Amino acid sequence: MVRKYSAVVLVAALVSACAVSPTGRRQLSLVSESSAIAASKEAYLAQMNELGAAGKLVTDPNVTRRIDQITGRLVAQAVMLRPETAQWEWSVEVIDDPETINAWCMAGGRMAVYTGLIQKLDPTDDELAQVMGHEISHALANHTAEKMSVAMATQAGVAAAGIFAEDNAGAIMGVAALAAQYAVQLPNSRTAESEADEIGIEIAAKAGYNPNAAVTLWEKMGAASGEGPPQFMSTHPSPTNRQARLRELAPQWMESYRAATNPPTYQLQDAAPAR
Ligand SMILES: [Zn+2]
Repeated sequence: MVRKYSAVVLVAALVSACAVSPTGRRQLSLVSESSAIAASKEAYLAQMNELGAAGKLVTDPNVTRRIDQITGRLVAQAVMLRPETAQWEWSVEVIDDPETINAWCMAGGRMAVYTGLIQKLDPTDDELAQVMGHEISHALANHTAEKMSVAMATQAGVAAAGIFAEDNAGAIMGVAALAAQYAVQLPNSRTAESEADEIGIEIAAKAGYNPNAAVTLWEKMGAASGEGPPQFMSTHPSPTNRQARLRELAPQWMESYRAATNPPTYQLQDAAPAR
């Protein structure tokens, strides 16, 4: 009975009150951001260690250097926008999966890009920066915790019954990590998409990447969905008038883009030691 009580306390620790996004929107927040970050770390390291052991993490410096360079510049801007994220363990891995057009960023700044996105979309650096900037923005705006809340409230509800039966604190963390893993596969809301579009184009421009590439990127993404929907499109549903909104936003950030002649870079962490 005592052990069961401690499990309840732990679950309560994972749960926080409602939160407000950077654009002022109220979010469903059953999972606190710090819990989402801890769970995401566990999920990320487990997945990357597994992929590394299977030889599925790209080590070709021609690929990784490009991704690191773009991401490092974007993260430097993300940190300026939300200074406490300087404490995050920002990192990015390139997953060798030529059929998957996808990229994501978990709570706490742990990212992945799939080779399918690079090979099938053939993005310019400016366009790649828009993808990564968009992903980083989902994390900055706490969308991962929001999706984890959904995952916890649905899937984990079932799993929770198992936890209480097990009376195991470790199992609770396991469920949170599962929810973190599951969250990157859940679609964002259209409102979250609009937020990520807005923040993404801003940090990319300030990092020295052409805002017009946001328009061409989504055109390429749309064209790629002709041969079967890319994973990216299923997790990033198109908000109403995305293209029109991006065309409207792009000129607003041209000045920041032109001013960013020598943008700073954030030193990324090496996330997955096992290769
Ligand atoms: Zn998105």
